Amino acid sequence: MPFASSSSRPRFLRRAPDSDEESESSSSYSGEDDFEEDFPEEVVAEEERKEDTADEVAPGNRKRPPPITISLKKVCKVCKEAGHEAGFKGATYIDCPRKPCFLCKMPGHTTMSCPHRIAMEHGVIPAPVRNTNTALDYIFNRQLKAKIPKIKPVFVVPDQVDCGLIRFHSRRVTCLEFHPTKSNILLSGDKKGQIGIWNYNKQHERTIYGSIHSCIVNNIKFLPGNDAMLYTSSSDGTVSCTDVETGTTTLLLDLNPDGWNGAAAWKMLYGMDVNIEKGVLLVADNFGYLHSVDVRSNVQTGEPILIHKKRSKVVGLHCNPVQPDLLLSCGNDHFARIWDARRLDIESCLASLAHRRVVNSAYFSPMTGNKIMTTSQDNRIRVWDSIFGNLEYPSREIVHSHDFSRHLTPFRAEWDPKDTSESLAVIGRYISENYDGVALHPIDFIDTSTGKLVAEVIDTDVTTISPVNKLHPQDYLMASGSSRSVLIWKTRQEDWQTKKGQERNPKQFIFRTEKKSNGKNDSDSDGDSDIGCKGKQYKAKKRQGHFTKGDSKKS
Ligand SMILES: [Zn+2]
Ligand SMILES: [Zn+2]
Repeated sequence: MPFASSSSRPRFLRRAPDSDEESESSSSYSGEDDFEEDFPEEVVAEEERKEDTADEVAPGNRKRPPPITISLKKVCKVCKEAGHEAGFKGATYIDCPRKPCFLCKMPGHTTMSCPHRIAMEHGVIPAPVRNTNTALDYIFNRQLKAKIPKIKPVFVVPDQVDCGLIRFHSRRVTCLEFHPTKSNILLSGDKKGQIGIWNYNKQHERTIYGSIHSCIVNNIKFLPGNDAMLYTSSSDGTVSCTDVETGTTTLLLDLNPDGWNGAAAWKMLYGMDVNIEKGVLLVADNFGYLHSVDVRSNVQTGEPILIHKKRSKVVGLHCNPVQPDLLLSCGNDHFARIWDARRLDIESCLASLAHRRVVNSAYFSPMTGNKIMTTSQDNRIRVWDSIFGNLEYPSREIVHSHDFSRHLTPFRAEWDPKDTSESLAVIGRYISENYDGVALHPIDFIDTSTGKLVAEVIDTDVTTISPVNKLHPQDYLMASGSSRSVLIWKTRQEDWQTKKGQERNPKQFIFRTEKKSNGKNDSDSDGDSDIGCKGKQYKAKKRQGHFTKGDSKKS
């Protein structure tokens, strides 16, 4: 039976020695074993060929024993050459001497001495003065600018783990969404296709729906005005609509109606959003096409439209919150694009925002919809301050560690929906730092108007990477998905800016039992990284919660 620890010190399950994250990163594991569990082999070959398809594979699954290799030489994991090593050594990232800095991608220094590591705002490119004096500028100044508050509000950062469901999912968490009306319900999707529903105020109230999708759940969305049904899209090529209470599912779209016909034909759905005005659910596939489903009739409408490079994955879609006909897409072809949804074809793209690598996400700002923030695999968060301005170059580029050499859900910087200044963003960090002897991967809060790191949120019990983070739309709390676990972070009771210590509330961790209701065993985990801690680490530290730049990173 699962148990909740209500004592001041939660109980932990000790991780197996080989499930340690650092040993994972220093092993010769290739990730392919894990891959095959979700996709037939042809897909593996297909995905491996593509550049930058980092998102399919999860770390640490060791179902099959790795092939025995005997090597007397040190081989670099980055360039595959012998004679030197690269990668993590504890919390330290050792660069391959043949490559530029792993963090900022510039030559001449290493990640450990990178200026961006010490002061993140070092990477901010100041916005050039731009006054195009167009009609759009005039409209912006008259109609939108007045609504933007002049004084920046104080940022509130949820910096303390309140509770968690440890190993809730049997594979890594890939997406999170809060229930739109019941503000204590968190929905989570995983790599295996399962959807979890958790009432984090009554921590034992949780459900897993296991048969809605057959592999990675990439999106969970609710439609405005209908909080009973959740819409999900998956790498199995389907969009489903599920009754939250009963789990009854309606299939809305299936791009692989004839089943498996080889990797060249297998369609997966990544981006998804809802055009509220039109009542249309938009999804995009790994072939560059946009599909739409009328949510009143549950019928696909129109022909698929090519919106990114043919046969490239479209990873994100976002409808503008103020003007839903403005659609933002991003993809593996290194572009984010703005579209007028009333008139969609490849010729009618309003703007193409070029990036140096794959764009993991692109979002309009949540209130005015006037800014754009993207996360690209080149370790840059880019911000455009006005969609009405010159979009050729971003207003700022912020260097941040989210390019990963392991198999994770891609990192995405997301806006804080409560921040009226539309500048606070949250994103997990890939590179770990040494916090009083413990290697931790913080969740970073960044002021995107300056590039400054507002807070790096850590918890010494969370030694895993947290690529999936969702800020609550109304409450000052955050959900994060770290490996197979989901966590709720709340703001500490004291004024966190003064850092006056106060007794922290005991964390509530619920560990999932290994016995599953459907009779399958639980050995297919993403193993590297279950939350827990080693005894020696646990004794070593007392500091919890968030650090601001300058009082952390002491070795
Ligand atoms: Zn190398
Ligand atoms: Zn650097």
